[in-house]
Amino acid sequence: MYWEKETETMPGNRLEELQLARLKKSVEKASASVFYGGLFKKTNLDSNGIKSLEDIKKIPLTTKDDLREHWPYGFLAVSRDELVRMHSSSGTTGRATVIFHTIDDIKEWTNIVARSMYMTGMRKSDVFQNMMTYGLFTGGLGFHYGAEKLGALVIPAGAGNSKRQIQLMQDFGTTAIHIIPSYALHLLSVFEEMGVDPRSDTQLQIAFLGAEPHSEKTREKIEEFYGIKAYNSYGLSEMDGPGVAFECRRQNGMHIWEDNFIVEIINPDTLEPVPDGEEGELVLTTLLRDGMPILRYRTKDLTRIIPGPCECGRTHVRIERIKGRTDDMLILKGVNIFPIQIEKKLMDVPGVGTNFLIILERKGFNDHMTVRVEVQKEFFSGDLKQLENLRRRIVEELKGDILITPKVELVEPGSLPKSEGKAVRVIDNREE
Ligand code: AMP
Ligand code: ZN
Repeated sequence: MYWEKETETMPGNRLEELQLARLKKSVEKASASVFYGGLFKKTNLDSNGIKSLEDIKKIPLTTKDDLREHWPYGFLAVSRDELVRMHSSSGTTGRATVIFHTIDDIKEWTNIVARSMYMTGMRKSDVFQNMMTYGLFTGGLGFHYGAEKLGALVIPAGAGNSKRQIQLMQDFGTTAIHIIPSYALHLLSVFEEMGVDPRSDTQLQIAFLGAEPHSEKTREKIEEFYGIKAYNSYGLSEMDGPGVAFECRRQNGMHIWEDNFIVEIINPDTLEPVPDGEEGELVLTTLLRDGMPILRYRTKDLTRIIPGPCECGRTHVRIERIKGRTDDMLILKGVNIFPIQIEKKLMDVPGVGTNFLIILERKGFNDHMTVRVEVQKEFFSGDLKQLENLRRRIVEELKGDILITPKVELVEPGSLPKSEGKAVRVIDNREE
């Protein structure tokens, strides 16, 4: 049931002892880098100043801008010839940050990915198809190594090429997939086109959904259409990539592997810690990374700690599914809206398809939101009154949640741009 029982079920106090010992080492290692070396000098800090886990607060927060300013090697804590791998963030918001790994870093990362997959029930008898981009993005190689370590047969399918993906699943009896949720939804139309029913014509059992925010509703939809269990997988390249936080079979929040990371949740405005259970920005510290330790990293991802123990017996803290990044927040007529709120509402309306797009415009001094939604093709044949009723219903649903009235346009399935990587949900035309 456990990949590493002792570590996964370690009592809280022992886990904290382990974290403290590793934190001291991490601070020591980090001080060899240009960035932390300079920072520790400025703040008069060294590993002797870390006597309890509370002392982590003495270390200033690290931001994505710090990584950018010290790009590419300013965070390196080892000499360059120790490095074996480079990865990079997707760079959706500015210059992509790069992360370097030593061979031991890769080993530790591989282990937590294997541990995460094992936790969901994946075993060496499984056939695992990795439908993520291989290359600089961590979702490809990160999962690949983890699945191999677990002993599964890995099909490194990579992203895209939808028909071939389905063919591979059928030919080789794929049982587990790793897929971006928006792509999993898109793929359904390709299954349909090929006349293949994922429930009866494949052996799929497990999906790992990662790389972008998605609501519980989307998970349910994917589980239902594919006839599988879908587990939320969270990670970011700055903290290795996948394997940082993962759902167990209870599907009630994601366990963060606290033997590898220290977890804090802060208020993104005041930078003060929020009480357990309250929403805020996730801040993470690497505990086992040699090549490029990062301390108190502001992920920009919003979530909350789920208080209390998990029924699975693992003691590592759980976080709620990610609501979005602090910079995903749309401010419209003074109202704060996250795209996932819209996704959640849409996925709950029968007749809605698998893709949508939010378009923001400024007319005079007013901001306007248009939500373009793909709906099932039946709505476009026959009585158009049904289409109008559906449109009105969507407007009402959205209005009730986001408190402004968006313009809603219904379009045919497949007509909105689709992405093989993270979905683009918002087009903001408001900038001059
Ligand atoms: P990257 O470093 O390019 O791989 O991107 C990492 C970012 O993707 C994270 O900081 C999150 O914003 C987002 N992300 C990754 N996995 C998830 C997930 N399961 N749910 C929500 N957002 C995610
Ligand atoms: Zn659990």
